[in-house]
Amino acid sequence: MQHTTEIHCLHCQSNNLVKQGYMGNGTQKWQCNSCKKYFHLEYRYKAWESGTKEKIIEMTLNNSGVRDTGRVLHK
Ligand SMILES: [Zn+2]
Repeated sequence: MQHTTEIHCLHCQSNNLVKQGYMGNGTQKWQCNSCKKYFHLEYRYKAWESGTKEKIIEMTLNNSGVRDTGRVLHK
């Protein structure tokens, strides 16, 4: 199975990623094939801000031990 993605590993920036299913709250869980580390991706919509359905991707490092989105990359 092959699929293209613009998502890159938070640890090594590789795009060689494998889906590992979803968390309970719908957050996509990924594993990097290059460094074998896990991380989460959370999709959020902020249509209320710009009037358009801009997709915001929030990334949470899995090895930080923090469950909230304290470390977030804003595009
Ligand atoms: Zn990696």
